[in-house]
Amino acid sequence: MFDNLSEKLDKAFHILKGHGKITDVNVADTLKEVRRALLDADVNFKIAKDFTTRVKEKAIGENVLTTLQPGQLMVKIVKDELTELMGGEAAGINLSGNPSVILMSGLQGSGKTTFSGKLANYLKTKKNKKPLLVACDIYRPAAINQLHVVGGQIGVEVYSEPENKNPVVIAENAIKHAKANGFNVVIIDTAGRLAVDEEMMTEIANVHKAIKPHETLFVVDAMTGQDAVNTAKAFNDRLNFDGVILTKLDGDTRGGAAITIKSVVNKPIKFVGTGEKMDAIDVFYPNRMADRILG
Ligand code: GDP
Repeated sequence: MFDNLSEKLDKAFHILKGHGKITDVNVADTLKEVRRALLDADVNFKIAKDFTTRVKEKAIGENVLTTLQPGQLMVKIVKDELTELMGGEAAGINLSGNPSVILMSGLQGSGKTTFSGKLANYLKTKKNKKPLLVACDIYRPAAINQLHVVGGQIGVEVYSEPENKNPVVIAENAIKHAKANGFNVVIIDTAGRLAVDEEMMTEIANVHKAIKPHETLFVVDAMTGQDAVNTAKAFNDRLNFDGVILTKLDGDTRGGAAITIKSVVNKPIKFVGTGEKMDAIDVFYPNRMADRILG
């Protein structure tokens, strides 16, 4: 498992207690530890390097004579910088439409269908909304069934047209159905592939163009590390999405993908998935993720 970075920082800086300022020399080893911890957490090398440079600039010259715990000061600098890097504040989703249309994107297996259900459940139980789930996967009948099972679990209606092979038409019909029946949020689950391919990108880009969603979310498995970043970039190039959903954070990952994705596509992470159950959803708080990465 990972070493605890907070403890390492604390130990490394303990020796500074009462010794004046943090300097170039006494900070070097510690920054190496910070960089290693970020790499262990799957943060991309260049981002980890830039990060430690910024931390160094902030730390050098800090007067630790007056500070009781120089290590704690260093931990705070690193934590604040990590939080900032991941977007600072928690980002909400746009629910201003009537209905608000939310388009889900991502690879097959990323947790898109599960998250669509979780989001519907969250909006229904926590935000007093009336959501409609829409099955727009025209390739896998099993995916449509899966969404119906999810909808059944949380008591949310699922719209599907199993015989229709045009996802744009299905999505448009679903929105009409929502308007006619008082649904104020429409969550559209789209087809996913095992890897990014042109046909898939064109298909989802067409749906995106036709329905102009209020919110386009990109779902990614936190366990996929560096690959997550390339996938995020490919989807963002085509969809210019509004936010990222990081799933499977209950697994054995420090979640460094959160940092790298935010740095590369500059879009906020909005929610995280923390399990297979319908209530395993959390708003993404950058400071909590910083704590997780620091260990
Ligand atoms: P899709 O192909 O993108 O729609 O992915 P699914 O929603 O079918 O999810 C793929 C698998 O990941 C399923 O077995 C889900 O139960 C599981 N899964 C989804 N989200 C999470 C999560 O946050 N944590 C864990 N542990 N498993 C998840």
